[in-house]
Amino acid sequence: MRTADGPGLLTAKAAALSSLTDILHQSPALHHCRIAVAAGSRDNGYSADIYAPLPPTRPFIAPPSPSQLREMPAETALPEATTVCVVGAGPSGMACALGLAARSIPVVLVDALEAGHNSSRAIGIQASALEALNATHPQLVTDLLSDGIPSKTFTTIDLAERELLRLRLYDLAQYTQFPFMLLLTQHKAERRMRAALSAAGVPIHWNTRVTSYTPSDAGHVVSFASGQTLTARYVVGADGHHSTIRFLAGIALLNPLTRQPSAPSPADPSFVVADVLLAEPIPPNLPRDRIQIMVGGGGMVLSAPLLSDSPNPRKKNFFRLYLGVGETPPSSPDLAYVQAILDTRGPGAVVKTEHGVVKVEELLHAARYRTRPALVEKMVQRAEGREAWTVLIGDAAHGNAPAGGQGMALGICDGAELAAAIHEHLTAPAGPGPDAMDVYAARRHAVAYQVVTLVEDIMQVEKGGMDWKSRARNNVIWAAGRVAPVNRLLAWKISGLGNKDIKGKV
Ligand SMILES: Cc1cc2nc3c(=O)[nH]c(=O)nc-3n(C[C@H](O)[C@H](O)[C@H](O)COP(=O)(O)OP(=O)(O)OC[C@H]3O[C@@H](n4cnc5c(N)ncnc54)[C@H](O)[C@@H]3O)c2cc1C
Repeated sequence: MRTADGPGLLTAKAAALSSLTDILHQSPALHHCRIAVAAGSRDNGYSADIYAPLPPTRPFIAPPSPSQLREMPAETALPEATTVCVVGAGPSGMACALGLAARSIPVVLVDALEAGHNSSRAIGIQASALEALNATHPQLVTDLLSDGIPSKTFTTIDLAERELLRLRLYDLAQYTQFPFMLLLTQHKAERRMRAALSAAGVPIHWNTRVTSYTPSDAGHVVSFASGQTLTARYVVGADGHHSTIRFLAGIALLNPLTRQPSAPSPADPSFVVADVLLAEPIPPNLPRDRIQIMVGGGGMVLSAPLLSDSPNPRKKNFFRLYLGVGETPPSSPDLAYVQAILDTRGPGAVVKTEHGVVKVEELLHAARYRTRPALVEKMVQRAEGREAWTVLIGDAAHGNAPAGGQGMALGICDGAELAAAIHEHLTAPAGPGPDAMDVYAARRHAVAYQVVTLVEDIMQVEKGGMDWKSRARNNVIWAAGRVAPVNRLLAWKISGLGNKDIKGKV
């Protein structure tokens, strides 16, 4: 595996940072365009990101499909004790459990659900997460690659269909085996991760909801809704945005921009996520090989092509759309609602061509949700005087808007890195100075802060209209994106590979 910290890139990065920062500072129109490339913006004190779904149109967590039910392993009894109890079998918890299993660290993975999620959520995995998984489970990554479409570029266009930015992820080929964002649905990625866990001999204990946990001399005693208990030295809260572990540990979730407790606000941006089959012919301005974001209409119109499981040829036009909306969307966004947005601010809506606007033939699923930036005040907590640790990872620790496709990758990297930190913590002799858990906590907090602020900056562009300020900002992006080092720096950050450079303050 190639390393992702090439000195040439770092030099280019420094140059690009200063030039882009200069451009930004010189333009009053960009006052609000805080592209988080300034090296000094690491601040452990805050960060954030959250997916806070509104009540969904259908049960947000769909019941298990027949194939999921077949996949569910025979009931395995919970042991009375383990080293690590991972709470939550989403991508973050599974990445952590896989990393622990690869290091032969005893782990118990529990989840309150009957089976894995199969709802519409993330659409892609960044290179950083593929690298993290590949380090211990290369077969898993091979399987994931076979399920997805490598988006080697990431294009942003405005309402006039001017290409503002073509992010060249393929330029990262000298630093990663995965110079692209892999487009695949989250539920498919999770399915592959569950198969990898099963191959590693780690069962998932479904229907196993944590209700409380308390420190003891032997570690934390975790209690489940069933009345069973389990003792574990490390409790990993990978239990999503509404984390029970975070609540029980009394760890605050903050808005990183205000440092106030993260709380819903009418100003939180809303999105509609829609899985659709598009009608033939698909116009050429809707790419089938990459993500495209259209901005300028007051909310993004993101399209991502996905591979369908179905042999039905009609399903080859399977896309997921993320539509940023200025107002609260209906509780059940229907085909007409989605089409109306495409008709007013999708590709072909303003620039008229013979192809017209893309037509949605069938709406497979749609949900509305809103987001706000959030980050826990700390990711690791030790029970006083005890060898009992609580760690929060993934959405339990942070949340951000879908812009830039960062959430799932960040959680996977949290989980994979935590497994390595626990291994080091268990095996390295205790000495003066910070231990592996302290270093992990500081680093991942700083990484999450960077990602959340990066996403907030991208959101400013995506929320923009065609007013002079937005146009000025878009012009700067257009110009900056044509400077090769700047383009590569942005690709480096979006891919998550740049997070390797972040240390955090211990
Ligand atoms: C609509 C939507 C669109 C999204 N789009 C993107 C995108 O484009 N790109 C991207 O990268 N990310 C996206 N995300 C975010 C991404 O889905 C999350 O970042 C990711 O799911 C986080 O994974 P996780 O494992 O941390 O948490 P989750 O996936 O939420 O998993 C948490 C698990 O914990 C379990 N659990 C909860 N409480 C308990 C308990 N008390 N006891 C036991 N188990 C419990 C739950 O059942 C669940 O299975 C999107 C999210 C949403 C909602």
